[in-house]
Amino acid sequence: MALVRKEREIPLLKMCDVLVIGGGPAGLGAAVSAAREGMDVILLEKRAFLGGNITASYVENCNYFLRNTPFKAEGLYAEIERRCYEEYGNDNARSYNQKAFSSEYLKLFLDKLVQEEGITVLFHALVNEVIMEGSSILGVIVQTKQGPQAIQARQYIDTTGDADVAYASGVGYDQGREGDHLCQPGTVSLRLSGADTRKLLENGRDGLSEIGRQFKAAYRAGETALACKRQDLPFGRLTHGGLISYVNYSCAYGLDPTDIQDLSKGEMECRTYVYDIYHYLKRTYDELKNIEIASIAPEIGFRDSRRIHGCYKLTIEDMESNRHFDDVIAVFPRFYDMLAPDAYMDGNGSVEGKGFAGHIYEHVVDERTFEIPYASLVPLGVDNLLVAGRCISADHVAESGVRAISLCMMTGQGAGVGAALAVKGACEPKDVCIAELQDRLRSLGLNIPSKEGA
Ligand SMILES: Cc1cc2nc3c(=O)[nH]c(=O)nc-3n(C[C@H](O)[C@H](O)[C@H](O)COP(=O)(O)OP(=O)(O)OC[C@H]3O[C@@H](n4cnc5c(N)ncnc54)[C@H](O)[C@@H]3O)c2cc1C
Repeated sequence: MALVRKEREIPLLKMCDVLVIGGGPAGLGAAVSAAREGMDVILLEKRAFLGGNITASYVENCNYFLRNTPFKAEGLYAEIERRCYEEYGNDNARSYNQKAFSSEYLKLFLDKLVQEEGITVLFHALVNEVIMEGSSILGVIVQTKQGPQAIQARQYIDTTGDADVAYASGVGYDQGREGDHLCQPGTVSLRLSGADTRKLLENGRDGLSEIGRQFKAAYRAGETALACKRQDLPFGRLTHGGLISYVNYSCAYGLDPTDIQDLSKGEMECRTYVYDIYHYLKRTYDELKNIEIASIAPEIGFRDSRRIHGCYKLTIEDMESNRHFDDVIAVFPRFYDMLAPDAYMDGNGSVEGKGFAGHIYEHVVDERTFEIPYASLVPLGVDNLLVAGRCISADHVAESGVRAISLCMMTGQGAGVGAALAVKGACEPKDVCIAELQDRLRSLGLNIPSKEGA
């Protein structure tokens, strides 16, 4: 059944060179890079703050997998990490992942950054419709308190994580695991106050890592009596004042991240698990006997969702063989982290295990890397749109590497510069000069191999 809506005129709110939709890691990379290329940039964000999953799901220890490896953060991510730390410090008493952000300070820092770059940010701005003219976007429609309003740009970048703009423009997509289309679980993170930091760290121990390991063993032995199917219990920062800034536990499985009925069910299901894990930790560990729930993340967070059909679909085979692409726009340490969409945890944990089934977690090994081609950011069928972040064109297992926050920021940078070159050259993003794009990205701090060095 469907209702018919009468056509109506949509007021034009603003115009710009480059419109970025979604203010998460990829959107920040795109907006800042396009602005640094001299573009007039508008950044639309449906929430009231920037940072995407870092700030909305408390995912503060983004680059934990680079610990004890030769790799360092690059480009805008490295700059934000350094400047945010210099400006606000970071009260992390754990030696584990010292570089984790404090996501509340990050919110403050990102507000300053976008203003410094001259980017116009509009919060509370959900985009779910576009006006097409042939195969080009004529404008996007923002749902506001004053009704729908249009924004027009010369180039558009979709960094919504769910590829909402590409979807609205008619770009094809895949979602979830090949075959059953199941996505990784959605998670509602939490923060706990009142932990006994001194005891958790006494004699050089890392009490939270110990608790995480004990939890997994207890879960597998059937001793926790918890309803949530998640077996891992990763923690974030532990402050001197007893705040555990991030508990990544409460997961709901089998949800479609784009379906409001599933989202509503998932939010409530996860919040019951938030209370369960809080109570379990409080009654089980002496160091945590005084904890309280300090906050519950404002929204369920997803690791994967729609993945666009682009000019090139990045595959796990490309990544495993470190295939070189002439249009490479980012090089990243080989790493995958896929929470089994069906909560099946008994695979061997590698990309080779059980036909990519089960939980896949591959550590960074030696200096192995993979490349992201620009063509994976270029959607099929729409002329003036680029896509960056976790929803680029990739297969499901490949996405479990592509989704890394700092890499999303790098693909965002690729899209930001690509869109700027398209504006300057009055061409479509797919036709920009790749050598110039790569040169610009190098100057923005990305480590792109030169043709000779490839
Ligand atoms: C619980 C959890 C733990 C994780 N742990 C890690 C980790 O340790 N390390 C790591 O590297 N990665 C981790 N990830 C994955 C990582 O968070 C994401 O892959 C990454 O944030 C993707 O960045 P993005 O910019 O593509 O999308 P997002 O971070 O999802 O940002 C998208 C932004 O767009 C906005 N938006 C969405 N739709 C619209 C719309 N229609 N209109 C306007 N705005 C819109 C959103 O509000 C959001 O701000 C984790 C994810 C979760 C959920």
